[in-house]
Amino acid sequence: MTEINEIYRMLDIDEDVRIFGEKILEKCKERFEQIDETAEYNQLKVIKAMQDARVSEACLLGTNGYGYNDIGRDALEEVYANLFHTEDALVRPQITCGTHALALALMSNLRPGDELLSPVGKPYDTLEEVIGIRPSKGSLREYGVTYAQVDLLEDGEFDWDGIRNAINEKTKMVTIQRSKGYEPRKTLSVERIGQLISFIKDIKPEIICMVDNCYGEFVQRIEPSDVGADMVVGSLIKNPGGGLAPIGGYIAGKKECVENAAYRLTSPGLGKEVGASLGVLPAFYQGLFLAPIVTASALKGAIFAANIYERLGYKVVPDASEPRFDIIQAITFGNPEGVISFCKGIQAAAPVDSHVTPEPWDMPGYDAPVIMAAGAFVSGSSIELSADGPIKPPYAVYMQGGLTFPHAKYGMLKTLQSMKNDGIVKPQQLTITDI
Ligand SMILES: *Cc1c(COP(=O)(O)O)cnc(C)c1O
Repeated sequence: MTEINEIYRMLDIDEDVRIFGEKILEKCKERFEQIDETAEYNQLKVIKAMQDARVSEACLLGTNGYGYNDIGRDALEEVYANLFHTEDALVRPQITCGTHALALALMSNLRPGDELLSPVGKPYDTLEEVIGIRPSKGSLREYGVTYAQVDLLEDGEFDWDGIRNAINEKTKMVTIQRSKGYEPRKTLSVERIGQLISFIKDIKPEIICMVDNCYGEFVQRIEPSDVGADMVVGSLIKNPGGGLAPIGGYIAGKKECVENAAYRLTSPGLGKEVGASLGVLPAFYQGLFLAPIVTASALKGAIFAANIYERLGYKVVPDASEPRFDIIQAITFGNPEGVISFCKGIQAAAPVDSHVTPEPWDMPGYDAPVIMAAGAFVSGSSIELSADGPIKPPYAVYMQGGLTFPHAKYGMLKTLQSMKNDGIVKPQQLTITDI
């Protein structure tokens, strides 16, 4: 009873589903080795950043009240600055989520009369209200900050002429989203982000280049701050929190940019000096320590998913073999049943709430019902295995995360089992003879 097929059987994975998975995995081995090498590099990068900041036992204690002299908080910010090779960083539980971190970076560095430019098309949904693309209370637009956008070309390339034309005397800041988010475009590699930043700085060197780094941390060996970004911004309940951070966001970058953000987060004059870390520092440090391996697990899960569903004839983005620059996997099922069945599988594989059945619902801010699957230790954490999909054409799901590869693997097998049980995937599709 200690054989691997026995435990999968106890978890209601049929033998044909399991063997199909094993054969697909064979094909992924080489990719996985490369991912492990990147994870090794990044693990050492994190350790070096911690050693260089002289992290000590006392750094794990935390403070309350005003949080003056919170040495653990200050050292952690130094660790982030070391890691991203930036002058400074702001890493706080008071930054409530990724959107908040991005809003903070934008609002603190822009002034009335300035213009913000996105040279990579429409930003992430929640930023539309921050910028004021969709009118909202307190948006940048309400404060007299204008916005310009240059879409990517049909083939995914930057519209170099369009970007050159869009830069004017008001352009103060550029926002570059690394991950595709819920757009059909490809995720940008750090190298491509570097080319874009050089192009922009050649035209107007004083433009502040900010990168929305969500879902991208530790996927490559370098980060956007290594190729000229003035600020990189992200969420701690995604990659850099390693699954342990229960809340938080970060901004790493030029001293002046980070200082502006700190003055806005707390108060002019107070800046980084206040903001008690309470009890979160052990989770922030240990989560960051684990983050390279956790990100690698999530990446392997995404590659496994792409290979399974491409093999079954579905459109997957990124495809089964192309390079990856974030942890998100899109799979297009073409009908609601596929989306729902996939999400049921993810939920059933969770360590928490595996007994509940996800259902599409009308979420605020969306124009179609959305189904979400997550059984996470941290609510809404998408570095944990999770999936969601709007119930509208083209009926695609976006899956991401997996704190360990065995969980991501089991999750994928469970989606396949769910699709089999629902009659969407036929048993004969699970026979592979050519690998
Ligand atoms: C998740 C995400 C955000 C927003 O983060 P939240 O923590 O959900 O507010 C912004 N941009 C991108 C690309 C993201 O993936």
